[in-house]
Amino acid sequence: MSLGTNDTVLLNPNLTQGEAKKRGELARRRPYVAAKLANISAMEEAGQISPIIRLEKSYLCNFQCTHCSAEYYMDRHLEKTIQVKDERPKIDYDDIRKLSKEADELGLARFVITGGEPLVMKDFDQVVAAIDPEKHYVITDTNGWFLDDARAKHIKSIGVEKVQMSLDSFIEADHDKFRNKPGSYKRVMRGVDAALNAGLNLLLSTVLVKGRAKTQEFHDLCKYATEKGVGLYVSYAKPTGSCTNHPEFVIDKEDADIVRELEKEYSVFTHMTPTYGSFKGCITVKGIITVTSTGEVTPCPYIDFSFGNVKSTSLKEILGRGMRNPWTGPYRPDCLIGEDPLFIKKHMEVTAKYTHLPVPYGEGFTDHDSVIEDGKTYVPFDRTLVTV
Ligand code: SF4
Repeated sequence: MSLGTNDTVLLNPNLTQGEAKKRGELARRRPYVAAKLANISAMEEAGQISPIIRLEKSYLCNFQCTHCSAEYYMDRHLEKTIQVKDERPKIDYDDIRKLSKEADELGLARFVITGGEPLVMKDFDQVVAAIDPEKHYVITDTNGWFLDDARAKHIKSIGVEKVQMSLDSFIEADHDKFRNKPGSYKRVMRGVDAALNAGLNLLLSTVLVKGRAKTQEFHDLCKYATEKGVGLYVSYAKPTGSCTNHPEFVIDKEDADIVRELEKEYSVFTHMTPTYGSFKGCITVKGIITVTSTGEVTPCPYIDFSFGNVKSTSLKEILGRGMRNPWTGPYRPDCLIGEDPLFIKKHMEVTAKYTHLPVPYGEGFTDHDSVIEDGKTYVPFDRTLVTV
């Protein structure tokens, strides 16, 4: 899993002309799914939520990216530094079918298969089938390595509608270095054409590290994506995963301001872009959840605390916990994991005690979340005094 690939991009974006055409085609092929997608805005106006479900069935990957945020979820990390084997049961197809059914009953419409690198999964087709493309809009993340014409046509034929592909620099040598994979830039370029030729909806995603927004390279990438008619989704490096030890990657306000300006000129957006998301501000639970390979549900790809496990708790209850929780709650304008120092501190302290993430419900997030400071108890975020 990389920060670029695995952030979410489908918060009711303003559709490009190409995407609008594809929505029309979708309505003819899969009217049930198209109707659910069209209903998302109405659900949100009615105070209901419709998060995208990111599904991390496996963390297998053919890359070892510098900025990978899944390292603590991977056996690779286990082999390198930790001798405790992860004995937690993994999700199976029955769990995915149950999740798909529960999500459908709640009106949720979008699944993103992520990882790891989804296209190395031997059972990718079975996972798509378990999600059920007749019920949900199915998207896959990919680093592009295996996306040639034949594969693109195949995944389209089994029900995948959209591909989100990572491109971390428009300079070939830099992308390959960042991905630790010579030839990966050329594979992305091949994958772009393969996806478009196969009629897949396509989105490029890129990780913004500190200072990159100012570079000519980033402007060139924005221009390339816009000219290709595909959106460029920009995710910001966060102080989690591999970036825990690389604070120099984390962007500052100047970078964010430059991206906000570029959004006006190019088809570039982040998940905080006001016109792209009907939820303004942080999208934890409201706009996104992640289901890990062990069935734990986290509220954001960068937060390693669970709100419950889909094997033992209903999706409805898990989402309810997230919406009742004062850290995540119905609304917050800022980034919980990127900007809230109290939460970042708690997150770092608690996750440091665990050999395997995410931290289960009750030990990271709890039913009684609050902050104690100077002997006083507060609701985090809005700092309401609870007791003196
Ligand atoms: S905490 Fe909220 S704003 Fe920050 S990355 Fe996660 S979802 Fe986005």
